[in-house]
Amino acid sequence: MADRQSPDVIIIGAGASGLMCAIHAGYRGLRVLVLEKGPKAGLKILVSGGGRCNFTNIFADPRKQFLSRNPRFCISAMSRYAPADFIAMVEAHGIAYHEKTLGQLFCDETSRDIVAMLLEQCNAAGVDVRLHQEVSAVTPNEAGGFEVVTGDRTYTAGKVVIASGGLSLPKIASDLAFRTANRLGLEVVPPRAALVPLTWNSDDKPVYESLSGVSLDAEASCGDASFRESILFTHRGMSGPAMLQISSFWREGKSVHIDLLPDCDAAAWLVSEQEKNPQQRIASLLKKRLPNRLVETLAGGWFPDTKTGSVSPGEIADVGARLNQWVFRPGGSEGYRTAEVTLGGIDTKEVSSKTFEVGKHPGLYAIGEALDVTGWLGGYNFQWAWASGWCCAQHL
Ligand SMILES: Cc1cc2nc3c(=O)[nH]c(=O)nc-3n(C[C@H](O)[C@H](O)[C@H](O)COP(=O)(O)OP(=O)(O)OC[C@H]3O[C@@H](n4cnc5c(N)ncnc54)[C@H](O)[C@@H]3O)c2cc1C
Repeated sequence: MADRQSPDVIIIGAGASGLMCAIHAGYRGLRVLVLEKGPKAGLKILVSGGGRCNFTNIFADPRKQFLSRNPRFCISAMSRYAPADFIAMVEAHGIAYHEKTLGQLFCDETSRDIVAMLLEQCNAAGVDVRLHQEVSAVTPNEAGGFEVVTGDRTYTAGKVVIASGGLSLPKIASDLAFRTANRLGLEVVPPRAALVPLTWNSDDKPVYESLSGVSLDAEASCGDASFRESILFTHRGMSGPAMLQISSFWREGKSVHIDLLPDCDAAAWLVSEQEKNPQQRIASLLKKRLPNRLVETLAGGWFPDTKTGSVSPGEIADVGARLNQWVFRPGGSEGYRTAEVTLGGIDTKEVSSKTFEVGKHPGLYAIGEALDVTGWLGGYNFQWAWASGWCCAQHL
């Protein structure tokens, strides 16, 4: 059945970018219909930031914390809609927030406050948000405009915005953006899970899985990328902010280098301690700087379980190198089930960085994580969603 009351614009997905786009298109006087497959709007916002939504980062810099085949693509939108713009919206709604660390802003109370703010604004802007409407296809009409098909009806509109996000959280996600892009002849940068824990290979698993729960400050590096934050051992592999960050740069077959003592030249420290107190056991010494459980697990494997005075300079150099440059060879990643984001997406060359309109299909737009733009961990992905949604709305 065709819908008689056609909206001016249909936005697919009531997530971060879709709601932002809907609000500002609505305020511009457009009749906006948002179709959301889930039972609630903003589901990913609700679960984000451990329930407190890390909604932006005051240090967001489009030249720094974003990955894309074209890293310059996000500069325009991110410069036009900055973290300060979203913070002003949050403050105008009286939502209390705080900086947790490294410029990351979180709600004091709950991420429900952010969703409530967005829905209140949708309401004020006259936006029609319909839930339980899973879009299965978007098809250009020969006479112009688009048909948008859901389970029980077909909607039409002159303009359609794909804001259906990436593949992380499979219960919420769908591959509509990628499927639609493929069908309409748009290039897609192959998607992969990112900001995701990396798993043990089969040799390492029996050695390290008992360390589950141990966390420490470390530096994880892969290629040119390097992050200094905490790492967390789990039964399945390595997680924690530094490891999630580096997962966006890791590829199958590559190693991750982990510096377990990032402020210390481990070999030089061991030599100086050996000179001061050769009777001291290496394990006791390492426990001064590393978690006890980690040292106990590594003793006998990474270093001889003996006194510092009884090891050779060569052995000290080996221990030091392992502590400062542990070569971790992940077996894989935990995949979309636990990933925060999807790397890749609709190739940005298909879309205007100013208007977000698809060059090959005027009237079609794509924003947010559906595009090949992925931020680091720390509020950058939401800032991209707000910025791309806001900028697109100005040109609908
Ligand atoms: C557990 C978790 C925690 C996160 N925490 C943070 C954080 O604290 N800070 C941060 O910056 N980023 C965080 N992220 C990433 C952030 O949530 C996303 O980058 C952001 O939500 C992307 O916005 P979007 O609008 O592109 O997509 P989404 O917010 O994912 O919205 C897409 C919407 O489209 C709907 N949809 C999908 N397919 C269809 C379809 N076929 N028909 C109709 N509707 C459809 C989905 O149900 C969803 O509501 C987190 C992600 C996860 C998974």
